[in-house]
Amino acid sequence: MAAPGLRLGMEKLFEMPAAVGRQSRAYSKSQNFAEVLRLPKSQLTKLVYPLQELEQHLVRDTRPHLHMRVFDPSLEDIARAESVFAASQRNRIEYVSSAVRLDHAPALSRPEVCFIGRSNVGKSSLIKALFSLAPEVEVRVSKKPGHTKKMNFFKVGKYFTVVDMPGYGYRAPEDFVDMVEAYLKERRNLKRTFLLVDSAVGITKTDNIAVEMCEEFALPYVMVLTKIDKPSKGHLLKQVLEIQKFVNTQTQGCFPQLFPVSSVTYSGIHLLKCFIANITGNLN
Ligand code: GDP
Repeated sequence: MAAPGLRLGMEKLFEMPAAVGRQSRAYSKSQNFAEVLRLPKSQLTKLVYPLQELEQHLVRDTRPHLHMRVFDPSLEDIARAESVFAASQRNRIEYVSSAVRLDHAPALSRPEVCFIGRSNVGKSSLIKALFSLAPEVEVRVSKKPGHTKKMNFFKVGKYFTVVDMPGYGYRAPEDFVDMVEAYLKERRNLKRTFLLVDSAVGITKTDNIAVEMCEEFALPYVMVLTKIDKPSKGHLLKQVLEIQKFVNTQTQGCFPQLFPVSSVTYSGIHLLKCFIANITGNLN
């Protein structure tokens, strides 16, 4: 969490009177990060650093297992990452193309990040949330599971590419494994894989197949826990601890820190954007 001094610095950055910073108001997702900075501290922590908010509810001896500050950006860093994800004439954020095979994938030299997860885990909603400052970008959100049968490529200005991979599990395309395996194994500019797990459900057998794939190919990957607004706090804490234990004991390539998010409340989305901006080399 940033020091109070930094918060004052941020208020200056956005020309925000300090008195406004103490007012209570709901955060609207269509507004920019200056709105977030106006939230009272407890709301701000819940929205920007959800893992730290959860930590307060843990008994002392379970806290050390949770890696909460491996990636610990300041609010200033997060604000800078927001501008990377904000569409403008000079920073065009757009859908590029879709591909069913790796050799149909666009030849893009920028760093790339991809999102994988079983159908219905909340992948399209998460990508939509990441692109909330680029409302013209169309990300299909399914009513029925299993609609995303292609790899969808999105360009984020001159910075990097985001790839929405087909959902696996229920009604996944036949050639899913071939497609995803080939991509994960051979895509040269792939910087990080984000593996989505439903926070209410925990790691399923199908999720395990994806974990094994990432481990086998020695990929650096990150576990994102979706839909954290859904379970009760108690259930969420239990799942977070179990998933953390899994990451600590069963994985090699997984980033130690979990990224809990909600595409409904936007909790954790800013931090995830900042992490993406950082690992693609765009936070300098
Ligand atoms: P995908 O198949 O992985 O792309 O999943 P979708 O993004 O289409 O989401 C599947 C379902 O979960 C939809 O009904 C979404 O509205 C819902 N959903 C997605 N993200 C969230 C979230 O953060 N919170 C809640 N409560 N529901 C979500």
